[in-house]
Amino acid sequence: MPQVAFTTLGCKVNQFETEVMEGLFKVRGYKVVDFDQHADIYVINTCSVTNLGEKKSRQLIRRAGRQNPAAIIAVAGCYSQVSPDKVSQIPGVDVIVGTQDRTRIVELVEEAANNNRTCQVNVVGDIMQAKEFEDIPLFSMPGRTRAFLKIQEGCTNFCTYCIIPYARGPLRSRSLASIAAETEKLVAAGFNEIVLTGIHLGAFGRDLVHNNGAEITLVEAVETVLSAGVKGLMRLRLGSLESIELSDRLISLMQTDNRLCPHLHLPLQSGDDQILTAMNRQYTTAQYRELISNIKAQVPGIAITTDIIAGFPGETDELFENTLNFVATIGFAKIHVFPYSRRTGTPAAEFSEQVPAADKKIRVQRLQRLADKQSSEFYQSFLGQKLDVLFDTVEEQGIISGLTGNYARIYAAGNQESIGRIAAVKLEQFYQDGLWGEITEYFS
Ligand code: SF4
Repeated sequence: MPQVAFTTLGCKVNQFETEVMEGLFKVRGYKVVDFDQHADIYVINTCSVTNLGEKKSRQLIRRAGRQNPAAIIAVAGCYSQVSPDKVSQIPGVDVIVGTQDRTRIVELVEEAANNNRTCQVNVVGDIMQAKEFEDIPLFSMPGRTRAFLKIQEGCTNFCTYCIIPYARGPLRSRSLASIAAETEKLVAAGFNEIVLTGIHLGAFGRDLVHNNGAEITLVEAVETVLSAGVKGLMRLRLGSLESIELSDRLISLMQTDNRLCPHLHLPLQSGDDQILTAMNRQYTTAQYRELISNIKAQVPGIAITTDIIAGFPGETDELFENTLNFVATIGFAKIHVFPYSRRTGTPAAEFSEQVPAADKKIRVQRLQRLADKQSSEFYQSFLGQKLDVLFDTVEEQGIISGLTGNYARIYAAGNQESIGRIAAVKLEQFYQDGLWGEITEYFS
């Protein structure tokens, strides 16, 4: 039985797509082995969000070639979509698919095998012409406790620092019927939590219409999952959303259906309006602040997490202080802080006033300190309370950890038997990067 190995860089969407490709090989009788093992085929699902992502992609491709020089090497994902020529010049690469045609991955690998690797199979097309959502069912279930379900593809926002629109193309959405079908499959396979994900999740449905011509929205995708009538779905979590795309209906659904996790990841990117404009972000700090205070008032205990870029071109010390002062007023549960990465092929890479690396480093450290302070204030507010935890990790002998609905990492005494189950935990004290608590009862 031929052996195939996978490795994935980047976001939840890429992880989902690798799981889909694994399923396609498995149903055709291939054996999936770990990437560091000897394999007949290596599939590298690449990332292009930063120059570093591309560098790591090249390193993994070369590593596959060293592990087995006779292996078929297939490269998928954003890097091979935006730079197929560069990928095709890496020694040993046989198949290049980009961010489309993953449904044909097995056929393309077999084509390369049949031509004895004499010529590359490169099917990377013009992503900007993509029309359909590539609806590939999950044939095999990921070995985790929560399942990602990709329902949206593409982005047309063109934030000036971002390469993704050039790698993923126009907006495309999975049909509501397919969402219901995949939900049933995932819950039947024993998943208590599903994470809806997409490249631009908040734009879900903009390319779809009801028979009466009405637009389909993200709320309907959420309602489809929640009302798919499948017994056993205990949690639905949303992937990253653009703040301005959050609807009142979604917030009220979060108030009324406690299966919808009280956690929203809303990238801020900067706390200064001048920089937000230069980033081509479609909101102001005042709008963002008002939205967050409304959400917190309507959904007590909700976790707001975010991404912030430090050192965007043109960000002076004064403008950075604006970001610090703004963030100090929000109270995030978690902040992912990134130094601005000059990404070739994006408008911002050509902007003047690039910020020196040393300044970026200092700003990242200052933001990280504020992020840590806000995170511990968020955790502090739950001490003494009981929260439901989906256990997903055996940390060490007798200690397990998992996530609450509002994305808090909780540790407790336990073992493998608790993994994948949801339990109420009485929260007692700070522990590592989260809280320690005592399990009082199991719900699954
Ligand atoms: S919304 Fe902006 S940052 Fe997000 S994928 Fe689209 S272009 Fe990139």
